[in-house]
Amino acid sequence: MSKLKEECGVFGIFNNKDAAALTALGLHALQHRGQEGCGIVTYDGKNFFSEKKFGLVGDNFTKEKIFQKLPGNQAIGHNRYSTTGINLLKNVQPFFADLHTGGISIAHNGNLCNARLLRKNLVKDGSIFQTTSDTETIVQLIAKSKRTDIIDKIIDALFQIQGGYALTILTNEKLIGIRDPFGIRPLVIGKLANSYVLASETCAFDIIGAKYIRDVNNGEIVVISNKGLEIIKPFPKIKARPCIFEYIYFSRPDSLINNISVYEYRKRFGSELAKESNVNADLIVPVPDSGVPAAIGYSEEVKKNVELGIIRNHYVGRTFIEPTQQIRSFGVKLKHNVNKSLIKNKSLILIDDSIVRGTTSVKIIKMLYECGAKEVHLRIASPPIKYPDYYGVDTPNKKELLAAKFDLEGMRKFINAKTLKFLSIEGLYKSMGYEKRNSSYPQFTDHCFTGEYPIKPIDANDENLDKNQLSYLSSKS
Ligand code: AMP
Repeated sequence: MSKLKEECGVFGIFNNKDAAALTALGLHALQHRGQEGCGIVTYDGKNFFSEKKFGLVGDNFTKEKIFQKLPGNQAIGHNRYSTTGINLLKNVQPFFADLHTGGISIAHNGNLCNARLLRKNLVKDGSIFQTTSDTETIVQLIAKSKRTDIIDKIIDALFQIQGGYALTILTNEKLIGIRDPFGIRPLVIGKLANSYVLASETCAFDIIGAKYIRDVNNGEIVVISNKGLEIIKPFPKIKARPCIFEYIYFSRPDSLINNISVYEYRKRFGSELAKESNVNADLIVPVPDSGVPAAIGYSEEVKKNVELGIIRNHYVGRTFIEPTQQIRSFGVKLKHNVNKSLIKNKSLILIDDSIVRGTTSVKIIKMLYECGAKEVHLRIASPPIKYPDYYGVDTPNKKELLAAKFDLEGMRKFINAKTLKFLSIEGLYKSMGYEKRNSSYPQFTDHCFTGEYPIKPIDANDENLDKNQLSYLSSKS
């Protein structure tokens, strides 16, 4: 069983008397990005306060009692995605450390590609790690920097780490937001009256009534203090390559990325998919919820109705949250049910956003046939995922990816669909407003489809690193 990596949610707010409660609301809106644990750190002008919990924000951060333990006008928060193996509260973020410059707290969404290597060297040099998370490597690097100003110390650390990261950092004077040089993981800036807000996605602003200002640019450091907002650009300028999977699956459809609605993008993927591979059938049926926007786009394109032929139980978490294949497949059964009277004796165009291991498709197609569907044509609103991710999205290792194991016909047989088609990579770029994918410098990082990695997966390639000793590998951010 491979180790799952995480996709997480981060939030930060500066100068608001309800900082902790607003952070809890922001994290609640970002719950889809991680459901294993959540945490909030606040600063009241003298001290830092931290509360970290397993489970959902709504089960942990709702009562007055917990907010009394989190005083202060500054706060950051974190939602953590599921991991296998090490399920310890000390791995739940934000992390906190007392440095000679004062306290510092960090929340991280992403995955560092060289954290194991850095950690090995730090340990050799005498650093003592408290957690098994790659985020602690950033804390240790900041602590070890010889610079005296906290921003310089952070920059020192940034020049050593490689990978996808969006960070919110709280110090005794500042709220800091950072996006990696390629802008792989998302981070947005907003404003609520006199308070600046940072979040992984704009849906976290909507819930608290904050105004979305803009996305943090790739390689940017946003420093928020009593002096206002300052932008620092420490890295040489390169073009952004945000992760294309945020648009396909991860971000909430009501979020905006660079002012364009994720929902709109997903509809366009569906309409392009219809242009590429429509088939004659009675009904269009989405796999809820992830396939719904693409199915609407598909249906508008071919002028055929969408029907909710599958109903989702919303009280079961995302399929990937359960850490073993056995529980995961059980989770899929719990999650979806067929709307029987609708699909009996019908031929269906079944639409989902992506296939990873194939678990969802196999279960759903089986259920549809058992309930009397005549034909199931599966259409996927993204290209086949053939390569693992190393920048913070939970895709398993290559040997578990369906598209890495089989060709198209092999996949079709495996999932038992009448026909199977994926959106082409060119179709994906076209629907995002690009004439074509720039093959010399792609507009996004699309490594899960193409195997073109903008940053080398250094740790994953390093045979010399002792994976057993460095158990923290099973726990990323
Ligand atoms: P699978 O069942 O393994 O083929 O996974 C595909 C299903 O999981 C689709 O319905 C997607 O909406 C969803 N999905 C795709 N990527 C991820 C991911 N990285 N984490 C969790 N779920 C995902």
